[in-house]
Amino acid sequence: MFTIGYAAISAGAPLAPFEFRRRQLRPNDVAIEILYCGVCHSDLHTVRNDWNWTVFPAVPGHEIVGRVIGIGSGVTRYRVGDSVAVGCLVDSCQECRHCHAGEEQFCLDGRGDTYNAPDRISGENNFGGYAKHIVVREEFVLRVPEGLDLSRTAPLLCAGITTYSPLRTWNAGPGSRVGVIGLGGLGHMAVKLAVALGADVTVLSRSRDKEADALHLGADRLLVSTDGDAMSRAAATFDLIIDTVPVKHDINPYLPLLKVDGTLVLVGQVGPLAEPSTVPLLLGRRRVAGSLIGGIRETQEMLDFCAKKNILPDCEMIRMEQINEAFERLERADVRYRFVIDMASLPAPVRACD
Ligand SMILES: [Zn+2]
Ligand SMILES: [Zn+2]
Repeated sequence: MFTIGYAAISAGAPLAPFEFRRRQLRPNDVAIEILYCGVCHSDLHTVRNDWNWTVFPAVPGHEIVGRVIGIGSGVTRYRVGDSVAVGCLVDSCQECRHCHAGEEQFCLDGRGDTYNAPDRISGENNFGGYAKHIVVREEFVLRVPEGLDLSRTAPLLCAGITTYSPLRTWNAGPGSRVGVIGLGGLGHMAVKLAVALGADVTVLSRSRDKEADALHLGADRLLVSTDGDAMSRAAATFDLIIDTVPVKHDINPYLPLLKVDGTLVLVGQVGPLAEPSTVPLLLGRRRVAGSLIGGIRETQEMLDFCAKKNILPDCEMIRMEQINEAFERLERADVRYRFVIDMASLPAPVRACD
């Protein structure tokens, strides 16, 4: 089918309308009309080719919510009309030990990213969710539970699972103390999810400016990381720190905050850090770890958990044509806390479906 989206045709080019074809349904494919798509920092990095791996034209978007409009002959889990979602993954080998464990993001044969990655069968570059329609194999389609507000669900598919997965991996819950560094799209979800899981939650920030916001999101307190006395008093009190900062930064001030065997997990920065010291690691058997989204099973668990606890991201709805302005604001961290594109603002493709 023909569809329309927004694409960057080269590094740094503004996103502009782009008509293209979605593949014919394979037996296990689900065709989805996209209603909403969240705007992730990775989208911005991709269209600017910050990581030097972008294939152009690039249609970003991996926080996708929509409705099923067609199914392949072998699809059993979904019907036309179902409310569904697609996150950062659209394929994997389904056979390796990580796929069997439900952690397709670590597929040994290479995970299939929703955009800027080749389709496993055709080899064509995948186009993401800044579009009217998408076709995805059913194993990678998620069900949006009853009661979850569709207009605010999209950011759960990347920001939500990226923070939920490490909280679950390191057993955040009643009795545990969790710190969150950075209060953007990822950080604000980390706070909401950690609170809902029952943990004691502290936002770490360079100033008091975000204190009211942190408390409003449900955090128990804000700790000013530039206040040496306050940082000393908080030494060795955290079980887990989720670091959502999306740029090169210094983790050394935060490591002494961890208890023995505590973990600081990086989920925002892809690339180098300022030089970390091993001293706080050795002295407290502390760990620095990374985490990448989550598998399909865990993503569905997260959606069900958010529906049960009524946890939703704070979103600012934009029209598709406002995306370039939204990218500029995202770069200045001028958003509370996630942009979501209303795909109703994108006109239908000029060419009819074939
Ligand atoms: Zn993302
Ligand atoms: Zn695999």
